[in-house]
Amino acid sequence: MLHLILAGGGHAHVIMLEHLIKHPCPNLQVGLISPTKKQAYSGMLPGWVNNTYALEACQIDLQQLCIRAGAMFISGKLAGLDTKQQEVILDDQRQLDYDLVSLAMGSQPNQFNSPSSSSHWVAMKPFANFTQQWYAWQQHLNPNQAATLTIAGGGAGAVEIALAARQVMPCRGLAAQRQIIIYAGPKGVMNGFSLRTRGLILKSLQQADIRVINEYIDVSKPLHQQAPNDFYLLVTSAKPGLSLHGSELALDAFGFVLVDKFQRSISHSNVFAAGDICSRPTTFLQRSGVYAIRAGKQLAHNLLAACNSNTLQPYWPRRHNLYLISCSDQTAIGSYGINLGFFSINIAQQHGLKKTSKKQLQYIYSIVENWAGISEGGIHHQTLWANPAQVTDLIKWRGLSPFGQARNWAGLAYEEQLGLAKAALENAPSAPIDWMFKELKLSRRHEATVLEFKQWIEILSQKHS
Ligand SMILES: Cc1cc2nc3c(=O)[nH]c(=O)nc-3n(C[C@H](O)[C@H](O)[C@H](O)COP(=O)(O)OP(=O)(O)OC[C@H]3O[C@@H](n4cnc5c(N)ncnc54)[C@H](O)[C@@H]3O)c2cc1C
Repeated sequence: MLHLILAGGGHAHVIMLEHLIKHPCPNLQVGLISPTKKQAYSGMLPGWVNNTYALEACQIDLQQLCIRAGAMFISGKLAGLDTKQQEVILDDQRQLDYDLVSLAMGSQPNQFNSPSSSSHWVAMKPFANFTQQWYAWQQHLNPNQAATLTIAGGGAGAVEIALAARQVMPCRGLAAQRQIIIYAGPKGVMNGFSLRTRGLILKSLQQADIRVINEYIDVSKPLHQQAPNDFYLLVTSAKPGLSLHGSELALDAFGFVLVDKFQRSISHSNVFAAGDICSRPTTFLQRSGVYAIRAGKQLAHNLLAACNSNTLQPYWPRRHNLYLISCSDQTAIGSYGINLGFFSINIAQQHGLKKTSKKQLQYIYSIVENWAGISEGGIHHQTLWANPAQVTDLIKWRGLSPFGQARNWAGLAYEEQLGLAKAALENAPSAPIDWMFKELKLSRRHEATVLEFKQWIEILSQKHS
């Protein structure tokens, strides 16, 4: 009987447990180490902060999953790894043998040190500590005293939490002021996202009266003016939650476990890792739940394959994903003016499907119609907008890859077809169709395509006549 230790209840291990429920593996003894029986799902936490969801609804019951998967739930925290003796060491000094170990312990904000009595900063992770502290703060907020939420970090998580907090800390209607401040660092909020998305985010923050300061705040300095009503939250970028330097595992410069395309340590073939805890020597891995979940599928396959001496499957992360940033006012900011069919394909791909079906499209339509702006271009595809106020009848031509992902011309939103026609008429008034073929990098001139392009120009001309 082989011993497999899963350290941490990260997304990939949840997928692994699910896999074991469906495909039990009798020659394997599996143990999951986790400091908490339940694991909060980060994507839903802003919804908990703004009181949309109860905490229970955002939690994955790891212990129950273990029972169903025939795995042992081991309450505790990994403190170290002895790769020579093939032992995991827990924080209470217990030592457990393994034949194979997999790490999915996530990350922590990079300026987070062990909680000390002098530090008033609460780290967003571990989530269990954050939810406890946040709940206690909200319970004790005195409505007659001013309160400030200060957030260090300007990424999507920080923005979502600030906007969610505004829902429970309204600017108006209370006897005392409720301030929310984000220290985003010199590069500003949502660094790395498109200018358009960043503009929309800044507008949402402004509307919610959230102050953004493009500087770092020194979280190591003691706070001079802290009032009992204030809360200081760390949502800075990621560092490993546990130093594995003594383990002899190959680590990157920041201490993340280096893995190959099979999610296997590049130095130890019986150690695997997935999610925020790992890095690849040559491929950039985003630290997000989406990537952790996707890697989970291959990790599950590979752990079982490694036990049974079968072939491992590589995991190639997608270079781009669709991100929806919840504004907590029943709107979200994502890719702007996107063809609904293209959006649906994106979602299908996130679930490992190659294409989307009419049924899926209708289902997605029924979900997004509650908050999105949807315009119907006659017989053309529907276009999805971040909210109804943004719907316009023409989208300026943005090139083939405005979201960082190449599109087929058939995936253009109706309003963007008109934008393309406009650009063609402006750039090549005597040969607009030729210009469109060139711009769309189409080498073959099918008659049907020529007709379609002509139609776009006609519709545009009629609109302006
Ligand atoms: C507010 C916020 C919102 C976010 N929203 C999204 C989103 O919508 N979509 C998205 O893709 N990403 C989102 N993210 C990013 C996402 O949270 C992380 O990238 C993701 O959780 C990483 O997953 P993971 O499986 O690696 O680890 P985690 O989900 O962090 O899980 C790690 C687990 O390991 C446990 N653990 C930690 N240390 C130890 C130890 N020493 N021993 C044993 N167990 C340990 C932890 O308790 C935890 O259960 C958000 C982040 C934040 C802060």
